[in-house]
Amino acid sequence: MSLFLEVVSVAEAVRAVQKIAPPLGYEDVPLEDALARVLAKDVHADIDIPGFDRSTVDGYAVAAAETTGASEAIPAMLQCRGRVGMGSADAGSISPGSCLYVPTGGALPTGADAAVMIEHAEQIGDDILVHRPVAPGENVVVRGEDFRAGKVALERGRVLTPREIGVAAAIGADRVSVVQVPKIGIISTGNELVPVVETPGPGEVRDANSYLAGAFVTERGCHPVYFGIVRDERAVLKRAVSSAVDRCDAVLVSGGSSKDERDNTAAVIAELGEVLVHGIALAPGKPTIIGTARGKPVIGLPGHPASAFVVLVAIVDHLLAAMRETTVSRRTVRARLTQNIPSTRGREDYVRVSLGNGEATPVFGKSGLLNTLVRSEGLVRIPASSEGFEVGEEVEVILW
Ligand code: AMP
Ligand code: MG
Repeated sequence: MSLFLEVVSVAEAVRAVQKIAPPLGYEDVPLEDALARVLAKDVHADIDIPGFDRSTVDGYAVAAAETTGASEAIPAMLQCRGRVGMGSADAGSISPGSCLYVPTGGALPTGADAAVMIEHAEQIGDDILVHRPVAPGENVVVRGEDFRAGKVALERGRVLTPREIGVAAAIGADRVSVVQVPKIGIISTGNELVPVVETPGPGEVRDANSYLAGAFVTERGCHPVYFGIVRDERAVLKRAVSSAVDRCDAVLVSGGSSKDERDNTAAVIAELGEVLVHGIALAPGKPTIIGTARGKPVIGLPGHPASAFVVLVAIVDHLLAAMRETTVSRRTVRARLTQNIPSTRGREDYVRVSLGNGEATPVFGKSGLLNTLVRSEGLVRIPASSEGFEVGEEVEVILW
């Protein structure tokens, strides 16, 4: 077995995948189909939002100056001349010494510049006793305060979550321009692999990686295309990779990514294109390949599912984000370590941890165990420059 003489850093590997990410083009989709897509263009507000000054409370629309000095003991007295109707084009007006009842979201009448919360006023017949002063603008959102007509409300590169979708609707974007969904070919290679529907015989294991990788890319707004299990034979793998790159925008091959003579992935990529990286200073995940075949990115993942998953998180995520013209977004929490995590300088280590009570406990299973994937809540990344973390140290945990 030849050695990994030229491993690259994780940062270099990330740059390599970002460089080979092919541009995919854009399409217009109705807003209701836009969830998880990435905005290809900035979206501008078509009108001022809100389109009118409005109250943020149930209460009374007033001229703030008329409440100056108001207190429980000496309230300001205003005459209530009725109420502002929701959605009515004319919110009316108030004259000195008067106010109008306004519900939350109702338009401020002419002459009013603040709203008194109903809790801070007392109604006696037609009179309103105001127990607390309000400043001009208090409990009011002014026209255009939320979004200004013609200004960017949602920037390109944003992933559309329900929150962005709601804002897009409010600013009149019933269709949005989004990046095409990347099609990601998925191949598992290994003579020992059997489909999940089969019970493995001696020496056999079920193909977990097709599903693991397929779910990972789906979760990131990509479309997996499954090419199944391929035997460890160069010609067979070459045919599979070849048809996958023809039909997809990028391809993930798991297994056979090391440098054993039975490992064909690197040779196949070299025959169809170019191997750019073979070996990353990453643990687990060192035997990883980055290359291109007929101009499309092909990533060789280690066969072991837990290692494959770390490579998906540390490297492939950046490829998918680059293809989608967005950035990797990670949910993280900070937690104190309950144990030391030793690490080798010069290598980026990813240690699975379980979380509880603000503490992170490393899950150090033997390499090769699958259960660590589901008995952990996330990963602690130990940079290549560090020799590890000590018990009690606060670390950042990348949540799965
Ligand atoms: P390899 O990277 O091909 O040397 O495989 C390393 C280990 O991962 C071996 O024990 C394989 O049986 C296992 N493995 C490879 N591919 C898969 C897969 N698709 N699903 C589950 N385990 C796999
Ligand atoms: Mg193998």
